[in-house]
Amino acid sequence: MSIRDPNCVFCKIAAGEIPSLRVLDTPSAMAFLDIGPLAEGHLLLIPRNHYRTIDQMPPDELTEVTSCLPSLARAVVKVTGATGYNILQNNGRISGQVVEHVHFHIIPRKEGDGLGYRWNAGKYPPGRAETLHREFTAILG
Ligand code: AMP
Ligand code: ZN
Repeated sequence: MSIRDPNCVFCKIAAGEIPSLRVLDTPSAMAFLDIGPLAEGHLLLIPRNHYRTIDQMPPDELTEVTSCLPSLARAVVKVTGATGYNILQNNGRISGQVVEHVHFHIIPRKEGDGLGYRWNAGKYPPGRAETLHREFTAILG
C-alpha cells in the first residue's frame, strides 16, 4: 500500500502526474533532475512513499532508498565531470526544506563553482558536551 499526499509535488512526480526527467526508478525510490539546479546535473532522490522528514521513515525503506546513492553519485560524477559532490537532505522549514516529501540532493561540485555554505564551527563551554552526551545516551542507549 502506498502512502501519498494528494497535494505533494513529489508524490505527483512519483505517480507520473507531473513530468520529470527521471534517471532512476526502483520499487521504492526514484531519482530525477532538479528543476532548479545548484549545478548542472543536480539530482533528487526520493522515496515513492510520502514522508515529510527522515525521522518518519521506516529504517528498512530508508535503507532501500539510500542504497541508490552510490550509483547515482557515480553517474553524476561521470556525466558532469565533477570532482566531488554534496549529498544534502533538509528536514523542516528551518533547515531549508521547501518540498515536504523526503528527498536527497546530489549536487555535483567542481573547483571554483562558488557553491558552499556557512560552517561556523562553535565550541562547547566546559561540561556542556558531557551533559548532551548523557541526554543522547538516555534516549539511544
Ligand atoms: P528543498 O529546499 O530541500 O525542499 O528542495 C526542493 C527542491 O525541489 C529544489 O531544489 C527545487 O528546485 C526542486 N523541485 C521543486 N519542484 C520540482 C519539480 N517539479 N521537478 C524537479 N525538481 C523540483
Ligand atoms: Zn509526497
